[in-house]
Amino acid sequence: DQRIAGITSAIRVIPDFPKPGILFQDITTLLLDVKAFKDAIDLFVERYKGKNITVVAGIEARGFIFGPPIALAIGAKFVPLRKPRKLPGPVISEEYSLEYGTDKIEMHIGAVHEGERVLIIDDLIATGGTLCAAIKLLERVGAEVVECACVIELPELKGKDKLGCKPLFVLVSSD
Ligand code: 5GP
Repeated sequence: DQRIAGITSAIRVIPDFPKPGILFQDITTLLLDVKAFKDAIDLFVERYKGKNITVVAGIEARGFIFGPPIALAIGAKFVPLRKPRKLPGPVISEEYSLEYGTDKIEMHIGAVHEGERVLIIDDLIATGGTLCAAIKLLERVGAEVVECACVIELPELKGKDKLGCKPLFVLVSSD
């Protein structure tokens, strides 16, 4: 798809952010490019429209940028999966390991019901730890995770392997 080239070139790569040795994929420049941003949303919508997805679950923070326009276009609700202690109501949470220590994501109890078909969205998959925790969280409430989708994959980190049998759809592979 020729739209992918425009999306790829709209993503800025920043060396040594947030710490030395990291090549940060900056999607804020994609948001400044009206055509590339719309193309990215359209590619997701074309893939998920008519698939009976009732929930788009977006991971904090950049999943909150891509998730809502997709949810509106496919007629699904949007559910934020948040960092700890951000959601005001009762939550269920799932812990996952980082390079040093652990982190958690949380979801409001009652936001997603048993049997619902869910698309999980984030901007980027690196090690896959975050998406893996999101899948577990949704499966704990009895939902069916249809697919995980990201704008960017860092294939060298083999995050896909951590998702088990869940399919992953990405627009751009960055190696
Ligand atoms: P993982 O859990 O797959 O190792 O890391 C993915 C999470 O870290 C995502 O929520 C993503 O937003 C964030 N992340 C890690 N590296 C980058 C990066 O280079 N650019 C952006 N935009 N996000 C990143």
